[in-house]
Amino acid sequence: MKVVIVGGVAGGASTAARLRRLDETAEIIIIERTGYVSYANCGMPYFIGGVITDRNKLTLQTPESFHERFGIEVRVKQEVLSIDRAAKTVAIKNLDDGTCYQENYDKLVLSPGAKPVVPNIPGVDLERIFTLRNVEDTFAIYDFMAENTPRSVAIIGGGFIGIEMAENIAGRKIAVTLYQRPKQVLPMLDEDMACFVHNHINANGIDLRLGANVQELMERDGQIIVRDAEGKDAFDMVVLAIGVAPESTLARDSGLELGVKGSIVVDEHLRTSDPDIFAVGDAVQVKNLVTGLESTIPLAGPANKQGRIVADNICGIDSVFRGSLGSSVIKVFKLTAAATGLNERAARAAGIPCDAVLLGPATHATYYPGASHMQLKVVFNPENGRVLGGQAIATDNAEKSIDVIATSIQAGLTMRDLEQLDLCYAPPYSSAKDPVNFAGFVAENIMDGRVEQVRWSDALNAPEDVVVLDMRNTGEVKRGKVPGALWIPLDELRERMDELPQGKRFYAFCHTGLRSYIGCCMLNQHGYSCANIAGGFMFYEANRISQLM
Ligand code: FAD
Repeated sequence: MKVVIVGGVAGGASTAARLRRLDETAEIIIIERTGYVSYANCGMPYFIGGVITDRNKLTLQTPESFHERFGIEVRVKQEVLSIDRAAKTVAIKNLDDGTCYQENYDKLVLSPGAKPVVPNIPGVDLERIFTLRNVEDTFAIYDFMAENTPRSVAIIGGGFIGIEMAENIAGRKIAVTLYQRPKQVLPMLDEDMACFVHNHINANGIDLRLGANVQELMERDGQIIVRDAEGKDAFDMVVLAIGVAPESTLARDSGLELGVKGSIVVDEHLRTSDPDIFAVGDAVQVKNLVTGLESTIPLAGPANKQGRIVADNICGIDSVFRGSLGSSVIKVFKLTAAATGLNERAARAAGIPCDAVLLGPATHATYYPGASHMQLKVVFNPENGRVLGGQAIATDNAEKSIDVIATSIQAGLTMRDLEQLDLCYAPPYSSAKDPVNFAGFVAENIMDGRVEQVRWSDALNAPEDVVVLDMRNTGEVKRGKVPGALWIPLDELRERMDELPQGKRFYAFCHTGLRSYIGCCMLNQHGYSCANIAGGFMFYEANRISQLM
């Protein structure tokens, strides 16, 4: 059996290695357009930032090492130009000498990845403007910076790559301006979570411009002028990172079925509309595991797993790819932001009933040094309690919580199940009630009607008969207030209940929502009507500051 693989990185290299493990006799050829195979895309921003210092560390394998270990032929700097499905051949161009030739196959695997989206605005082709997709791009950016020592860089796009580049370039003591057209960065987060990232990015010296629609790039005196609706600014270099699109030209030109955003349609065995052609990775359409809807999820985890599944199927093992949750994580200076499944925005767009708990549990036992507040949001279906998604931001443990939630979603668990999860604990690592357990407790209280939850949007637009009640202590109130709120610290509430205006409802908050929940229980049992404001002052303040940007 002869298998030709187009693209030799996450999906392609995984396919090839698994194929060899399953079949010692198969002829396996990888065709890779760049000069490198099995390179570490995810590490590239960290090489540019000087965190990874050795160029060789970006390439996990070389064509020679691949051949030595796996007996796989890797042809780098060669591009597959077209597929002749009837003849079962591909046309290949050697990019070194320009020659073209044909290669026949029994099975063809497409793992061509995704290409950076380049905005359709004047000036995008100018020098000093970069995109980041492969090792060559990485070295081009690195070498440009080494030779030109830029003092100012504009990053256009606030997704994963844009933010990683912003952090890494800023780490080299270069002034960074980050333009982001939507009003928030990192679309996997809801806006009420993204604001914590905004504030942290800003606090780390990045000039974050939200809602900034870049309209034109111009060259002037060796600099790039970036023009948006607010005006023009000059930079020594620009990085475009506004997103990626499936690289499906080959598939399209050979008549394979395409789906969402031009991605390659595959069945659960990752077979395309041609039974002898499989496809994996960023280029393919995948099922969202929560909504069941088709989507594109360009992440390394699915690509690697899909490679293994394709190899299984080629070798006669019935292996299926069930779909993806889009679990993702990013380092943002000292914070980690992680998410899985649906955020509230996505759940609503999919027409799924949803509610969410917002909480601020400690990252680990508060008496052990280094603890801080995590911001955790878990989205669920209030009709059946099913966990739909999670988002966490913290100095540590964020990705652990999200991995637990991802596992819970895949297992079909409800918020009540989260309460019972038996998770590991010792003071340096977590709390005896893990943040995920806590999310379950809060949701159960809401679903069982033991506490009413409102959001800040409700509290700030509350009807006349509602009083916003601040239950924080004196020190906390000195650090910031909510205009118009009545202040009675929780520990004084029992004694001072007579100060509460009669005939009113109360929306209560503390720093994270935990103590105000206690206050709500107390007030409700004394005949008052009190709802807890989800997330407390921590969310109020972060959103307020973020909106000033
Ligand atoms: P790729 O790994 O992109 O490989 C596709 C290869 O196919 C490319 O090398 C390309 O040159 C080659 N190719 C395309 N067309 C042809 C052709 N016609 N002929 C020959 N060769 C061709 N994901 C995460 O989950 N976590 C991260 O932290 C993360 N960080 C990232 C950081 C950066 C800067 C980038 C660019 C991506 C990052 N990703 C991350 C995404 C992740 O790298 C991809 O999801 C994953 O590599 C997709 O695998 P793939 O095999 O589909 O495509």
